[in-house]
Amino acid sequence: MQNLSPMMQQYFAVKEKHPGHIVFFRLGDFYEMFFDDAIVASKELELTLTGRDCGQQERAPMCGVPYHSCDAYIARLIKKGFKVAICEQVENPKEAKGMVKREVIRVITPGTLIESNMLSDDTNNYIACVFSGEEGYALACADISTGQLFVSQFEKDGENELVNELGRYSPSEIIFNGGLLEKKTVTGFIKDKLGCIADLLDDDKFQAAASRELITRHFSKAPEELGLEGRELSVQVLGALLAYLYETQQKGLERITAIGYVNPEQYMTLDITARRNLEIVQTMRTGEKKGTLLWVLDKTKTAMGKRLLRSFLDKPLLNPAMINKRLNAVEELYSDTLLRCDVTEQLSGVFDLERLMTRIIYGNASPREFRSLQYTATALPGLKSRLSGCQSAYLCEVCQGIDPLEDISRLIDSAIVEEPPALLKDGSVIKDGYDAQLDELRGLVHNTKQILVDIETLEKEKTGIKNLKIGYNRVFGYYIEVTKSYLDLVPQTYIRKQTLANCERYITQELKELEEKILTAGEKILILENSLFEQVRAQIAANLNRIQTTAAAIARLDVYASFAAVAANNNYCRPQVDFSSDIIIKEGRHPVVELLMNGAPFVANDTVLNNSDKQIAIITGPNMAGKSTYMRQTALIVLMAQIGSFVPAVSADIGVVDGIYTRVGASDDLASGQSTFMVEMTEVAHLLREATSRSLLILDEIGRGTSTFDGMSIARAVIEYIADKHKVGAKTLFATHYHELTELEQQLSSVKNYNIACKKRGDDIIFLRRIIPGGADDSYGIEVSKLAGVPDWIIKRAHQVLEQLEDGKTVDPVKKKGKPQEVSSQISFETVLPSEVEEALRQIDVNTLTPIEALNRLYELKKLL
Ligand code: ADP
Repeated sequence: MQNLSPMMQQYFAVKEKHPGHIVFFRLGDFYEMFFDDAIVASKELELTLTGRDCGQQERAPMCGVPYHSCDAYIARLIKKGFKVAICEQVENPKEAKGMVKREVIRVITPGTLIESNMLSDDTNNYIACVFSGEEGYALACADISTGQLFVSQFEKDGENELVNELGRYSPSEIIFNGGLLEKKTVTGFIKDKLGCIADLLDDDKFQAAASRELITRHFSKAPEELGLEGRELSVQVLGALLAYLYETQQKGLERITAIGYVNPEQYMTLDITARRNLEIVQTMRTGEKKGTLLWVLDKTKTAMGKRLLRSFLDKPLLNPAMINKRLNAVEELYSDTLLRCDVTEQLSGVFDLERLMTRIIYGNASPREFRSLQYTATALPGLKSRLSGCQSAYLCEVCQGIDPLEDISRLIDSAIVEEPPALLKDGSVIKDGYDAQLDELRGLVHNTKQILVDIETLEKEKTGIKNLKIGYNRVFGYYIEVTKSYLDLVPQTYIRKQTLANCERYITQELKELEEKILTAGEKILILENSLFEQVRAQIAANLNRIQTTAAAIARLDVYASFAAVAANNNYCRPQVDFSSDIIIKEGRHPVVELLMNGAPFVANDTVLNNSDKQIAIITGPNMAGKSTYMRQTALIVLMAQIGSFVPAVSADIGVVDGIYTRVGASDDLASGQSTFMVEMTEVAHLLREATSRSLLILDEIGRGTSTFDGMSIARAVIEYIADKHKVGAKTLFATHYHELTELEQQLSSVKNYNIACKKRGDDIIFLRRIIPGGADDSYGIEVSKLAGVPDWIIKRAHQVLEQLEDGKTVDPVKKKGKPQEVSSQISFETVLPSEVEEALRQIDVNTLTPIEALNRLYELKKLL
């Protein structure tokens, strides 16, 4: 250490405290990285690796980025899963005695971003803290870019609930205690499904007493007053999360003002498998938004609305009363087109208040963002008064929640220029007329010439020297010049500075003071602008609660208006939602597929599932008939109803379901090293364990991944298990190719068969897309293969094999060459199938053959005989 240069000593002192972070060390206009950090960063960011003298024989590896463009580099490192510590100069280098003091002012990690360019507008960015203790689990999730914080707690056997909850938030960073390492379900889920960075914290970070103290200090309230009474695990997990945030952030955490205690039982269970299979926020194949339920429902106008819509989709409700309140608000906006259009128009100008407030509180909002806040605030009084006549309870709440923020708008409007520069340091941010001292300084700079002319005139009058002149030179600044002929009129207050051939130059006390003012005005203006800007910032920050409440109200309004607009555009109906055990949908449609049909008609279908009578629908029908579309549409309609949206149907009676579980298609999990069949069975086992009689199950081709008899037996046993009200008793849509399963309708009172109607015309098949009672009579597998473009040879051969199998015969081998056999009682393939010679002949295009080629072909054909 002693041999190191003083700056390197300072660097190492910082690095010692941040061993796991890439330290961005501020040196003048650059952030520099050294040693291992430099080696890693130069590789990841494609920067040139250089070296710097550090007092030792070898130079320290170094690379750097300009401070004004560091955001993009930091974003790239964060995306790759690194954590970055920003070490700033914390004193003015001009005033520093010796080494400039430097400190880490913030650690940026994937879960603690506030920079708008590193965040996506329409999703929350959560950091999660998980605690596994003797009595159970607790989870705390925070989005510091919006100030949201949620806590939940689970019983000892609540691993699955914990996993579901983690899936809902889908955090970008997780911290946890040692106890969790033994819980393989949870750690496996974090590693394989979430794939975010996860770090182990020391157990002492979760100490109850310290946590309690920190919570009380942060919220100025005891945990009991914050809804955490009797929830010791929640206190521990929240304490650890807050401590981590304080360690990494150093400032701005006053942004988090409230805790949302989440009881997972309030929400529909929607595990990560169901969410993926139903393509709620991203498609399975490409991970895009287009083609998802979110894509259909998102007509929101603000970033806050977009994030809230996602969280509605993540947390469908279970309480019909709350669902109906949302539906009432949507209906009011749906039926009053004028109101809806006005609201939508006004929302279009609303800025992301939530994240803007965070940056204002952190002190890194730009002058332009202040203006955006002002612009948003001007829309608020109109919006509030437009909603004042609303009837539904939630729209009334929204109306109340919106604060017109007129004072804030006035403050910004009076203080900040209309089109401010991007950065405060560029100056000209504060408006003229806002501060007298600033006006004076600016006046001085702008009117220097006039001021000097005025002084000149005044001095001429005072002294009677007619040709007195004011000039400037670099040696002694402003001076008064008097020609020799007037020297006797020079007053005593003039101080002589220079004698020239025919004149003398003087300075005066007044002129010196003015000069000092003029010369320092520029710097003073910047300092003053900074402090005035800071005052405005502080005044706005002091109104955090009012602005946050407004932001929350706007987010809700935006989502209700979006639901209403989608309902009106797509011809949806309001669902009847209650506690009954029925799902009765008349002429339901798939919300996504119907929009992707390019004008082709979507065939609507009914769904009837009820626990008291027919609760399991076995659906047969060829591939491509529309089985999975139908099953998914039912699940999506239920989900839409439970988030408070209208639904694509003529009518829908939805008894709330407590969870939707799916087993759909082959979602190979090669990463986890499991076979398709293993994954399928693991998912089946999971949903059979979790589902209740109030759940909805979507099962597509269970048992397909093994031999026919094995598969069919498993499928049948699964249906029998679900049908048993003491075991599961859930409402179920079960698509299968095992036609044998349709006999269950006779044996189990809760089972009803359906199939999707198709017509066969010759070898071709026409899909009618209509679901009708009864089992399908055929799989039409060969016909569908033909549609898919499988070669004719295979289609014909498959028909022959099928015929023989259906007659209980052994299948004849296919013969390649040779003469046609005598036709016996068996079918002779060669008489039906074209020979190789025939095939080859068919391929020849006689018109393009040269005589030589024709001769060669003839030889080849002969060889085939
Ligand atoms: P299956 O699961 O029976 O193999 P899918 O549900 O995947 O069939 O449907 C295949 C395609 O048929 C869908 O991609 C969609 O384009 C079309 N389709 C399905 N249901 C309908 C419908 N009700 N109306 C119109 N087209 C439909």
